[in-house]
Amino acid sequence: IEEKFDAIVVGAGPSGNAAAYTMAREGLNVLQIERGEYSGSKNVQGAILYADALEKIIPDFREDAPLERHVIEQRMWMMDDKSHTGAHYRSEDFNEEKPNRYTILRAQFDKWFSSKVREAGALVLFETTVTELVKDLSGQVIGVRTDRQGSPIMANVVILAEGVNGLVGQRSGLRDEVSPDSVALAVKEMHFLPRETIEARFNLTGNEGVVIEAMGTITRGMTGTGFLYTNEESISVGIGCIVSDFAESDVTPNELLEAFKNHPSIKPLLAGSECKEYAAHLIPEGGYRAIPRLTGPGWIVVGDAGQFVNAVHREGSNLAMTTGRVAAETVVALTRKREPMTAAALKDYEKRLEQTFVMKDLKKYQGIPALLHARKGAFFGAYPRLVSQAMQTWFRVDGTDKKSKEQAIYRNFRETRTLWGMLGDAFNLVRAWR
Ligand code: FAD
Repeated sequence: IEEKFDAIVVGAGPSGNAAAYTMAREGLNVLQIERGEYSGSKNVQGAILYADALEKIIPDFREDAPLERHVIEQRMWMMDDKSHTGAHYRSEDFNEEKPNRYTILRAQFDKWFSSKVREAGALVLFETTVTELVKDLSGQVIGVRTDRQGSPIMANVVILAEGVNGLVGQRSGLRDEVSPDSVALAVKEMHFLPRETIEARFNLTGNEGVVIEAMGTITRGMTGTGFLYTNEESISVGIGCIVSDFAESDVTPNELLEAFKNHPSIKPLLAGSECKEYAAHLIPEGGYRAIPRLTGPGWIVVGDAGQFVNAVHREGSNLAMTTGRVAAETVVALTRKREPMTAAALKDYEKRLEQTFVMKDLKKYQGIPALLHARKGAFFGAYPRLVSQAMQTWFRVDGTDKKSKEQAIYRNFRETRTLWGMLGDAFNLVRAWR
């Protein structure tokens, strides 16, 4: 490829597609490079799609995007080995004309998004891996080298939407390796069932959907969570924990998933299903404090490559799309003004991001990942067990008077954690949450 592009986007996940689409639609000459056979072939997600982020890019996406079910019920479960204590929220309001959250299958969804990128006018190369960035003598990034082209492909700016590992950034000296305590390794299976079975099992009508987010002893004391999402004719079930916790433990991700699927609260939901897909992927969960350098001369980082995941709320793809869009808007504005893509000019991306929910949320929760990790034995072991035992004591009617039950619950908590220990955990959690 001889021509020089206004922008090159590395990667065709949600962040890369959002960036490439936004720039191409505004008339920029965009090249997108994806190592997979097609957009979505390398990608893994639960997956919940948050409509708002996509609506800001393609307002009428509901007309033809491959959506599975719109979520009308959220279940939050705290689990021990035999039980779960749940908070469920279900509302008819979520059966709105333009639903707020959908389950999706990433392979289909990414393919659809990629078709929009091409319709908008971007050139997309598949089965091509960017190996490194090309810089001029001043350090300005001026293009990329790939595993296919002999000579580099030139552009005014490169948007790195390459996902969690950030290997191109690393190889080009822009960032460090991702730390094992800032990423979770998640494994996921797709279980197929007739749609009527799913609807009967989860009390659903038509395309309504339910999602379950779970934490507790299911991660064997490691920092992590499990999930179960209903699709049209399948159920996605998965679990993930911080990589450094796996390294210290002798439990494998696959063993965790098997145990989760066989938990008495999960097993009946999957009964009779056929598992047709298995996937594993990293999730950046280090939060605000793990964000690498985001801009420099001729380059911008978006999506998972920038650690843009809100692990507390299980949001990632919406942060990816939003950072992709905002990066693209920055590049469009600079291109229109014919300004060079210097480090100082591209800082505008970071300024714009500060105004969005992405940075506001990540800043708000900046203390949470470290706290949960430091106190993982309590938050992913002791407390779920204590809550479950308290529920059992409370609900079992066995001739014991209620005052004695209350005292037994209190004693159980005190024997496991000191009063100061519990107050300290509560104080630290509230402080990190604010
Ligand atoms: P990716 O989707 O990882 O895309 C990066 C792309 O870059 C890939 O296609 C890859 O092939 C390509 N690439 C990488 N290197 C190169 C290279 N050198 N050259 C060319 N191409 C390259 N988020 C949610 O919002 N909701 C959920 O329910 C949810 N559940 C999740 C469940 C699991 C198990 C996992 C793993 C993640 C989940 N996430 C969820 C997070 C979400 O998937 C990510 O935040 C999102 O995919 C990030 O998008 P991205 O475009 O930045 O990166």
